[in-house]
Amino acid sequence: MAKKVRINKDNCIGCGLCNATVPSVFEWDDDGKMKAVVNVVPAGEEDAVDGAAADCPTAAIEVE
Ligand code: SF4
Repeated sequence: MAKKVRINKDNCIGCGLCNATVPSVFEWDDDGKMKAVVNVVPAGEEDAVDGAAADCPTAAIEVE
């Protein structure tokens, strides 16, 4: 079952860490915060996205 990913914009502080580690999933939005450019985590990126979620300083990345 594919994982889903989203950014909780209320929590994101725009530190850029997730974009630096998984640029295929996380991109800068116009508001200076991050957005997930896919809803479903691409095959092969699951571990990287899990890591980004774990490393996010404000727990803004939600993976389910
Ligand atoms: S790591 Fe977290 S706080 Fe930093 S840009 Fe990504 S979602 Fe925002």
